[in-house]
Amino acid sequence: MLPPNKGNEQTLLVGGIVPFTTLDYPEHLSAVVFCHGCCWHCPYCHNQEIIDINKPVKYAPSWESVINFLSQRQGLLDAVVFSGGEPLLQPAVKSAIKQVKDMGFKVALHTNGHNPQMLAEVLPDISWIGLDIKTVFSEYYKAVSKDPSFWDKIKSQNFGKAVEKSLDTILKAGTDFECRTTLDPRVVSKDELKRIAKTLSEKGVKTYAIQEYRKTDESPEQPSNEEISSFFTDAELLAEIKPLFPHFIIRRAR
Ligand code: SF4
Repeated sequence: MLPPNKGNEQTLLVGGIVPFTTLDYPEHLSAVVFCHGCCWHCPYCHNQEIIDINKPVKYAPSWESVINFLSQRQGLLDAVVFSGGEPLLQPAVKSAIKQVKDMGFKVALHTNGHNPQMLAEVLPDISWIGLDIKTVFSEYYKAVSKDPSFWDKIKSQNFGKAVEKSLDTILKAGTDFECRTTLDPRVVSKDELKRIAKTLSEKGVKTYAIQEYRKTDESPEQPSNEEISSFFTDAELLAEIKPLFPHFIIRRAR
């Protein structure tokens, strides 16, 4: 499922930028750089317009213009968050991270965990990571393609194993991080959520966030509002998961 074009080694392809926010790296005033391209097609993706790296993004800033912007924010912003899309799809993200760190910013990373090798390479320069855990590791093929006719073809690629390796790599390095799961009922069931939480807790994850799915459109394929909120109104479910983590975060859609 990896798109053929991964950009080049030198220049990061950017899909967009948020000049400042405190939401994407907890307790830090940050700029968010949305990297162009993703290797997956999750049904709940809110960044559909930037996930095909072969498709130009309207009004996408160049990496050079991002650096120019950041040079005017030195001393004003704490950090730069590399988000996506999937930042670790493009080899150029490695030099981009170093460049930003050399400018004096902390660097945070949002990743889907598909590339544990590249993650290990950039990890020494990263202060905080948001790692997506889409569903139980053995069922990842259902989460990363919205077309069920692909599932049999991609099952053997074992995406969940790569994500688990990414998680183990972060835990071993001791980098500050959170795991988070977006609760789209098409991707994760309540039973699967319990299993995810148990696995993460057993591995030593300290911060786990569950995030409410915001519908991308009003088509009939979308889950109902009741299905979406049922994760958050199920007191028994929450009471089972919450004690597993020192920090358990519930993010409702705004
Ligand atoms: S991994 Fe993230 S960016 Fe990629 S398709 Fe899924 S939700 Fe979208």
